[in-house]
Amino acid sequence: MTLPITGGCQCGAVRYALRAVPGNAHFCHCRMCQRAVGGPFVALTSMARTEIEWTRGAPAFFQSSSVAKRGFCRDCGTPLSFAYDRSDRFSVTVGSLDHPEDYPIERHFGVESKMPWLKLGDGLPEEETGDVEADPRTVGMVDLQGQAGTAMERWYTRSIVPVADVTTSIAFYVTQLGFTEAWRHEDDGQCLVAQVARAGCELILSSQWPARVGQALIFISLDLEILAALRQDLERRGVAVADGRWGYPLMILGDPDGNQLLFPYPSDTEPHT
Ligand SMILES: [Zn+2]
Ligand SMILES: [Zn+2]
Repeated sequence: MTLPITGGCQCGAVRYALRAVPGNAHFCHCRMCQRAVGGPFVALTSMARTEIEWTRGAPAFFQSSSVAKRGFCRDCGTPLSFAYDRSDRFSVTVGSLDHPEDYPIERHFGVESKMPWLKLGDGLPEEETGDVEADPRTVGMVDLQGQAGTAMERWYTRSIVPVADVTTSIAFYVTQLGFTEAWRHEDDGQCLVAQVARAGCELILSSQWPARVGQALIFISLDLEILAALRQDLERRGVAVADGRWGYPLMILGDPDGNQLLFPYPSDTEPHT
């Protein structure tokens, strides 16, 4: 096999290169992996964490438990990786490799949750998910996946942005800032409240607080690369952005009512003073 070994997601937004041949290819039948990929099992193969480089885009990571994160493409949803936070190993999904045929599965893991209707018959070793308390990587593990049929502890939070006229405001967020309109509520043909969203940022635009119009402050954290591209795009299209500080630098973007979207630059891009 020639290095680097490459792979990526379905849509091509995220690509990676491995500088080492991954090993320990296995199916994990555990309930968490089933939920993570929406299938009866996941196929993973791993190498040292330092041997993967994201060569295009970057995955989003879901903290599926208190001790591990799962990477996926935020655009197309392809499951890409699994890693324990306290491990120097990093697994990629076998199916995301450009040549998965080169990484034959060596064993089954998590077979206590294996689907009873799954008939494999490959004769490979089968292991159960061990005592998680005995594994230093999983000590104190808390499952953070929502469990079927049970309420999930997640506080879904959105900011209300008080505006003078919701329709005017929607037009600004959609045409100038690349948001999409998620829903709106109208009364007598007048739009009173609407939600706009972009990449997980959800804002509720409301005309119900006239005394507070223009007073919202929304703090939006982006990776530096994404922020730089956003700023360039806004400036190219003539949208006014300003620089500010709140302990460290910010990009400030005002909407037509004066509500401000604050985009912090990472604090480590300049020395702390
Ligand atoms: Zn993708
Ligand atoms: Zn698993």
